[in-house]
Amino acid sequence: MLVPVQGGVENLQKRNRQIQMQEAGLRTVKLPSIYIFNVSRREFRNRIGAGKNYTIPACQPGEEYSEALEIPNLVLSEIDLADGGNNMGVIMNPGLNGVVEIGGEERMVIGIANDIIGTNSTSPALGLYTTSLEWWGVFATLNKTPTKAELDQARSKLQQRMELVYATGAELVQAGKNVPMIDRPLYNEAAEILGRKPFWGTLEHTRAQCPECHEDIIGGATFCKHCQQAIDPASVAARAKKRAKEAEKLLKEEEAAG
Ligand SMILES: [Zn+2]
Repeated sequence: MLVPVQGGVENLQKRNRQIQMQEAGLRTVKLPSIYIFNVSRREFRNRIGAGKNYTIPACQPGEEYSEALEIPNLVLSEIDLADGGNNMGVIMNPGLNGVVEIGGEERMVIGIANDIIGTNSTSPALGLYTTSLEWWGVFATLNKTPTKAELDQARSKLQQRMELVYATGAELVQAGKNVPMIDRPLYNEAAEILGRKPFWGTLEHTRAQCPECHEDIIGGATFCKHCQQAIDPASVAARAKKRAKEAEKLLKEEEAAG
């Protein structure tokens, strides 16, 4: 037998939330913000901190650093108390790492900024597949405008990582290893950031027509696979000149014969 739920399902689904009150309380306290900056050309999306998603903007061409991702010094997050009463609790997450006393014990807490950057992620050390964005030139600071020292350090870290990626790519190429297509952009990106020649050509070629046989070829090609001729501008020009001369000669012969 079905027992009717008093107040209906709607009532059951209603959560008792206290976050609004806490947020309102927090707004009355003046706390500094934390700013996350990025010196690389990459945008980093869906970085998680305290259960929330964040996007770190890319550094735009000609700029020294990205727009700031501003996060509060204290971030409130909801948790399900699972007490049977549909009550949602609130926990407070610090913006930056720090040592706090919890229950008489000194404990290290991981701040949201460090969570977003990945300073404490599974493989935060310098490496090909590091999960810390510090190696991509991302950093957190209390400064609204980053200092020269902070920017220098971020750039130095990005440079170190790019050198590592580049060296790995160069080694693979020199050893004649077949580097999978999916890995190539990473090595090429490192080369680009370091101002060096890319390891592989870009995969998207523009189509063009052979100036000699008019077959489909790859834009910028200097040899036609259809007519087997050199089609660099100098060769094409030389051939055109030769043809013009031959035509002139034929015309003169015809005139002489006529
Ligand atoms: Zn051709």
